[in-house]
Amino acid sequence: MRNGGPRKTIGHTSCDLYGSQRRTGKVVLDGSVATSSGVVLRNWNNSAVSTPRVVVVPKNLQELIDVVKDTKYPSPLRVGGSFHSLNPCFATDGTQILMCHFAQVDIDVVTSTVTVGAAVKMIEIRNRLRPYGMQIAVAPEIGNATAGSVSCCGTKDASLGRFGSGQVSSTVIGVKLVDADGNVETITEADDPEKMRIVRSSYGLLGIIFEVTFRIEKQSILSYDYKIFDLASVPSRDKLFGGADGVLAFCLPYSNRIIAERRRAAGGQACISRFSRFKRLVRDKIWAEKASLLVTLVPYNWFFNIFDRVLVLAFRILSLLGGFAARRADSNINYKFDRIDYFDFTFWAIPVSRWEEFIPKYVTFCRDYFRETGFRASLVSSVYFINKDRKALLSFSPSEDIFTMDLADSRPNDPLWIEFNRRYDAFVSEFGARPLLNQTKQLSADIVYKTLGNDWSEFLSYHKENDPSGRFLSKYFVDLM
Ligand SMILES: Cc1cc2nc3c(=O)[nH]c(=O)nc-3n(C[C@H](O)[C@H](O)[C@H](O)COP(=O)(O)OP(=O)(O)OC[C@H]3O[C@@H](n4cnc5c(N)ncnc54)[C@H](O)[C@@H]3O)c2cc1C
Repeated sequence: MRNGGPRKTIGHTSCDLYGSQRRTGKVVLDGSVATSSGVVLRNWNNSAVSTPRVVVVPKNLQELIDVVKDTKYPSPLRVGGSFHSLNPCFATDGTQILMCHFAQVDIDVVTSTVTVGAAVKMIEIRNRLRPYGMQIAVAPEIGNATAGSVSCCGTKDASLGRFGSGQVSSTVIGVKLVDADGNVETITEADDPEKMRIVRSSYGLLGIIFEVTFRIEKQSILSYDYKIFDLASVPSRDKLFGGADGVLAFCLPYSNRIIAERRRAAGGQACISRFSRFKRLVRDKIWAEKASLLVTLVPYNWFFNIFDRVLVLAFRILSLLGGFAARRADSNINYKFDRIDYFDFTFWAIPVSRWEEFIPKYVTFCRDYFRETGFRASLVSSVYFINKDRKALLSFSPSEDIFTMDLADSRPNDPLWIEFNRRYDAFVSEFGARPLLNQTKQLSADIVYKTLGNDWSEFLSYHKENDPSGRFLSKYFVDLM
């Protein structure tokens, strides 16, 4: 930590990612190094915090290498991307690295790739590709997630078609990183597919990624419509799809309903009318803002029950109005850090062969917890259908297609929500489910070994070989080993 030279508060730097962080404590910056006293960096919804002794903002590759090599920057070294993970995977009591100076975007239409700095957000990549009529093949709702994070963590959207990927990391074909010895490594799918496979789910434990190359493709336009089913007789996967290319569904276990958002490829030339754009806007407003705002303002079970019905009605109306058409990448949303309401969710991927067995048990599980504690989740559980994908060692769909069942609520730090997640982990792990180490809540070593099995052990031996001194190893990950 340097002390000389001019000092200023870090919130006044050009580092927007950090500037938008809600934080407490005093931070002073000298050059690119912030000495922090009592600083607390929070994730988006304040359900996970980091308490670094040092915050560093390397301006270029050489400074990043110096940070990794120089032990005056205390371990563990953890990057903070845009702090949208849902557990403390980014947290450190050592050094927090902010990559905001790694922000270049290079589009190569000839090789169908885009190469970006680690800090570039998905929504910016979307915007930069649009004039070229190109897109990344997986378009998650989270537009804020950074390239560095999505290249080594789990980020998903519903798959399209029989073989379309639903994992953003599978669209990554190369990364550059600084490893635990301070060496720069270039890892590509073409030259070392096995190493690329490990890096895609390495969660920052193999190095600091500073550059990412994604495969890109022609922009696609989708038509969206909605169909509502009663869960009293669980619709089969095929019935839910109704011949669509992809489905994201909203499950309402307390109201016995599931709303299927069916997505169909509409052909590149399909036109998007103004009315379509309006309907898309309404859908996104409900999804990203209004739902959590209303249940935050009226946090009572009777209102959650009413709101379930309002949602069903809203999607029924959207459907009666003919659904809408939109570009696939329109899904990316820029979630504001400053808002009066926040939501929280967990992630679990369940093999699709267990669908009809799982759903009634899930409904019972949710209702039993409600009967016992009086707590019911205030928001819908999201159900993404995603194809089998073995491109990452810790992929959540390594052996067959999956559906997710992501419990969501508007009270991130309520003890009953935390306990609900603990019990859900135990419940869902009985169904061959797989977690994500950046999105699943309340994980324990027992649950991770049980669900990721040999893949987790293989990853840990690889990590030990590559980072024997634990330069990148934080308490969060130690607790899962
Ligand atoms: C409102 C909201 C909506 C969301 N919607 C979706 C969704 O639609 N689909 C979905 O899949 N997920 C979703 N998520 C989860 C989120 O996308 C993921 O958790 C994602 O990883 C967050 O990216 P980030 O840039 O904020 O990463 P951070 O939370 O900052 O970091 C995540 C992890 O990556 C590591 N890391 C980050 N950058 C680097 C780097 N350059 N090198 C090495 N390690 C690095 C960090 O240390 C940490 O371990 C959502 C989250 C929120 C809060």
